[in-house]
Amino acid sequence: MNIIKFVEEFPDEAGCREHWRVIREKEGVVCKRCKCEKHWWLKNRELWQCSQCNFRTSLRSGTMMESSKLGFRVWFTAMGRFSS
Ligand SMILES: [Zn+2]
Repeated sequence: MNIIKFVEEFPDEAGCREHWRVIREKEGVVCKRCKCEKHWWLKNRELWQCSQCNFRTSLRSGTMMESSKLGFRVWFTAMGRFSS
């Protein structure tokens, strides 16, 4: 993906977060506490809530972004560079 295409596809932080949510849901979100795979998406808080035990999983949880304070857009840019 070239940089112009990238900017068109991910114009802002919110777009990146939404894209990241779709990717993670495709891969499957698994509850850390009870291993349940069924979650509700809490749009206002940007968290998944486990349908079994109500444990909440953040967008960054369980990924390399977890301990980072960098924005999603920065990560996406970096990943785009690595994969190209
Ligand atoms: Zn759970």
